[in-house]
Amino acid sequence: MTLPATTPLRLYLMQVATLSQVEVPIVCYLVQTADGKNILIDSGLPGQFETPAGRPAPILGQDVFAQLALLDLQPDDIDLLICTHFDLDHCGHHVDFPRAELVVQREQYETARNGHPRFAAARPHWDLPAERYRLINGDTTLLPGIELIETSGHVPGHMSVLVRLSQTGPILLTIDAAPNEESFHPDRQAGPLDLDVEKTIASTIKLLEVARREQVALTIFGHDGHQWPTLKTLPAYYE
Ligand SMILES: [Zn+2]
Repeated sequence: MTLPATTPLRLYLMQVATLSQVEVPIVCYLVQTADGKNILIDSGLPGQFETPAGRPAPILGQDVFAQLALLDLQPDDIDLLICTHFDLDHCGHHVDFPRAELVVQREQYETARNGHPRFAAARPHWDLPAERYRLINGDTTLLPGIELIETSGHVPGHMSVLVRLSQTGPILLTIDAAPNEESFHPDRQAGPLDLDVEKTIASTIKLLEVARREQVALTIFGHDGHQWPTLKTLPAYYE
């Protein structure tokens, strides 16, 4: 079988920080395509930040640049940056990929742009010139084998990602629509950081349906301290 040239070849998982006490990983992802495109999904925490009172303090690990360097990749090598949402632990290095086109749901972009306080602290990291952004509306095929799935609730215009790999099969990255395995059930509770309870639950049900319909081989949760140690992480990869 001949695969289309721009088709996912490898998926790399990177842990860039850990929330202390609770062992919650903060992560981002890299997809490499058969024709040599590098697609980053989120960029992790910035090098400096303030932890809101009462929240666990993140401990920084190897950042996205150090991990990409292990693959001989520089920031200029990133062609596309999928922005799942603009929480600080997902967008902390968006400004540092000067050649990348940033892909985001229009609803997330406009909510943040219009000054929603949730995204104020991270603003220096995502507030780039509008021409850097590709705004999308709802579920979108980014390229053959990469589906962007609108999963609002955690924030407006939150995005999850389905990556189809030739050997592993489809991998679903829930991101924060389902932060851990316990939340991946139709009767789940929303978390304290989920802005819209009903939409959070509706998006979970939507992802459960995607997982069933697409016969997803592996679902990777956004911040699952129990699952993460069982997964292959960079420099290992899924293919
Ligand atoms: Zn998160």
